[in-house]
Amino acid sequence: MAVLVTGGAGYIGSHMVWALIDAGEDVVVLDRLSTGFRWAVPGEAKFYLGDVGDAAILKQVFAENEIDAILHFAGSIVVPQSVAHPLDYYDNNTGKTRLLASAAIEAGIKHFVFSSTAAVYGDQKDDEPVLESAPLLPKNPYGQSKLMSELMLRDAAAAHDFRFVALRYFNVAGADPLGRTGLSTEGATHLIKIACEAALAKRSGVDVFGTDYATPDGTGVRDYIHVTDLVDAHLKALSYLRRGGEPLIANCGYGRGYSVLEVLEAVKRVGGQRFGVRYGPRRPGDAASVVANATLARRLLEWKPRHDDLDLIVETAIRWEKGLADRKADNLHALQHRLASAR
Ligand code: UDP
Repeated sequence: MAVLVTGGAGYIGSHMVWALIDAGEDVVVLDRLSTGFRWAVPGEAKFYLGDVGDAAILKQVFAENEIDAILHFAGSIVVPQSVAHPLDYYDNNTGKTRLLASAAIEAGIKHFVFSSTAAVYGDQKDDEPVLESAPLLPKNPYGQSKLMSELMLRDAAAAHDFRFVALRYFNVAGADPLGRTGLSTEGATHLIKIACEAALAKRSGVDVFGTDYATPDGTGVRDYIHVTDLVDAHLKALSYLRRGGEPLIANCGYGRGYSVLEVLEAVKRVGGQRFGVRYGPRRPGDAASVVANATLARRLLEWKPRHDDLDLIVETAIRWEKGLADRKADNLHALQHRLASAR
């Protein structure tokens, strides 16, 4: 039996592929390489170039492999982009998840793990970490597009022999501690990536989006989770589904928030470099504070995070960022060599 990872050439997906291989699973990757990289997919995984919205390639992948579970990472994730191009987000995130789920059900694939997001909650009402049962009031089309997918999966699971776990990610950051993969996406907009680029003098400084939030220092607060712990939650979700677990929607975060300014301090401290900080207006669609209560994942999935440390997140992120240009070139050469010798 093999596991299909959609978006396996991307940031979180490529960490997932490594974790599955480390766990001895057979892995099939489907990725259209819109933001991911072919070289980010380990040679042990079987790779298909294609879109999850393409019914023909799904049919081919399902016919050529014995897939028992799908881990669906492919999707668009940039909040401001979703505000500017909402229908693209509903298409890529919601429409294609519908197509993938329906193809899975038709092919008799019973297990599905879905990448959802804390953006389904919108603004949190109080300072308490948010529970899955909190009101679902996304502030942007990105969050809506993921929430709509959760609802579809829930209804599909009630009607068919099909079970899913949707993991609501909080702010995923950091890189594989063994240095095999990391965040390589061009033009990434996420705070830790931007701050690491600034610490390495790849950009002139960092803009802080909003200083007048109702948070201790006025800047946005987020629950930053190490990507290694996040992919581990997926491994746990996979075991849970395989042992017959019921459909589940669970938060993935540490339950503690850091402000933008605290993150910038951590990057300066760990990176050993100062950089400029400009204070600007709020970014459209942003919530003030987003912190997880992840008791459910810990209890039902038996998830035990082991990298709950902002400095470790930043250290692995900087280390990856430092070698990124060289690594991209090296990995590309290695891939070309691998493909040439396979011909
Ligand atoms: N942020 C910022 N400057 C940046 C990027 C992000 O001040 O260049 C802030 C953003 O407003 C939010 C937090 O950092 O409060 C995390 O944003 P990010 O884009 O990393 O993730 P999101 O929470 O939007 O998924």
